[in-house]
Amino acid sequence: MVSLRVGELLGGWVNPPWMAHAFPAAMAFSGLVVTIGLAEQLQQLRRDRDHASRMASYDALTGASSRPAIEEQLKTAVRDAHRLDRPLSVVFFDIDRFKQINDVHGHRIGDQCLRIIALRTRNRLRTYDQIGRYGGDELVVVLPDTELHEALGVAENLRSAVNCRPLSMDGVVLEASLSIGVAQLQQGETAEQLLERADAALYASKAAGRDRVSGSTRITGTHKALPTKETVS
Ligand code: GH3
Ligand code: MG
Repeated sequence: MVSLRVGELLGGWVNPPWMAHAFPAAMAFSGLVVTIGLAEQLQQLRRDRDHASRMASYDALTGASSRPAIEEQLKTAVRDAHRLDRPLSVVFFDIDRFKQINDVHGHRIGDQCLRIIALRTRNRLRTYDQIGRYGGDELVVVLPDTELHEALGVAENLRSAVNCRPLSMDGVVLEASLSIGVAQLQQGETAEQLLERADAALYASKAAGRDRVSGSTRITGTHKALPTKETVS
C-alpha cells in the first residue's frame, strides 16, 4: 500500500480513486495495531515490575514480609510511635530445635513446618500488626499501639498457637514450640535498639529452657530480660 502511494507521488503511475480513501484508513489501522501491541507490552512490563516488587516484599516460603520489608515497616512504626507518643511493642520468636526437625524429617518437611508455624501465628494477629521473616527460623512481629503487658499476652497466644496441637504434614506428625522475646519501645529508642532488646529477651527464653516468653525491661539504663512465666504477667 505504501509503495503504491510512493510510486504515485513519484509520478510512476496513477492509482485508482478509491486508493485516496484506502491509504489513510490503512495507515490508521496499522497505527492502531502498533498502539495495541505497545500497550500490551507496557502492561506486561508493569506486571513483571509488580511481581518483582511483591517478591522483594514477601518471603516466598512463609508469605510473611521479607527481612528488608519488615525492617522498613518497623522503622516507620517506631517513627510514628515517637511522633504520636503512642506505645509500640515487638515480639521476636524462634522455632525450638528446628535443626533437629530438619535432620530427622528432611528439609522439605522442615519447610512445611515453617510454613504452618507462620500461618498459625499470623492468624492470631490483628490486621494492622505486621509479621516478617527475619532469618532462617526467626520471625518478628510489630505491634503498634501495644504496651508490654498486652504484647506479652499476644506472645503467649502465638506460643500456644504452635504448641497447642502437633503439626501434621505429608503423614508426618510432630510437636513444635517457640521461644519468644518481647520488648516495648522506650523514649528515644531506635528500631535497632528495640529489636536488640527483644532478641536479648528471646535469648533469655532459650537459656531458661525454651517454649516460653520473656519480656525485656530496661532498668536504670541497662537492658534486662525477665522470664515472664514467673516474674512478668
Ligand atoms: P534453637 O532451639 O536453639 O533455636 O535450636 P535450632 O536447632 O532451631 O537452632 P537455630 O535456630 O540456630 O537453627 C535454625 C535452623 O533452621 C538452621 C537451619 O538448618 C534451619 N533453616 C533455616 N532456614 C531454613 C529454611 O528455609 N528451611 C528449612 N527447612 N530449614 C531452615
Ligand atoms: Mg531455632
